[in-house]
Amino acid sequence: MPTSTENSQPMSPTTWQSRFMSMSQLVASWSKDPSTQVGAVIVNQKRRVVATGYNGFPAGVEDLTERYENRDLKYKLVVHAEANAILNAVASVEGCCIFVTQPPCQECAKLIIQSGITYVVSPTPTAEFLARWDSTATELMFAEAGVSWECI
Ligand SMILES: [Zn+2]
Repeated sequence: MPTSTENSQPMSPTTWQSRFMSMSQLVASWSKDPSTQVGAVIVNQKRRVVATGYNGFPAGVEDLTERYENRDLKYKLVVHAEANAILNAVASVEGCCIFVTQPPCQECAKLIIQSGITYVVSPTPTAEFLARWDSTATELMFAEAGVSWECI
């Protein structure tokens, strides 16, 4: 019987983070938004995936290209990846970690806090991202509500 030392070694936390970030990038690619694709993966304390989500219109609302190209209308119709992941969860997300391909906006930050998620992992925001999206309120709420936010 072949033996493998690779499989018997405990996986480092960094390896898991990298795997779930890769997974959230895959989920992001499912979004039909041609300009912004965001993915989220919610993982419990046993490192099991309890939900995935990507940005898109609500179920049944037609994914018409012209709707995505009309920025004002798109913002009114779109459900963010984090919100979809929380709504899609097959089990409680209490105490879970959410991996998301962009820093959460303030609306998603509220949902993350209220759903009981306690840990957020996202890429470090670029200067371009920060110029478009102010993350001050997200930072403030996460800090006060005790949600850890790690940028990798
Ligand atoms: Zn959001």
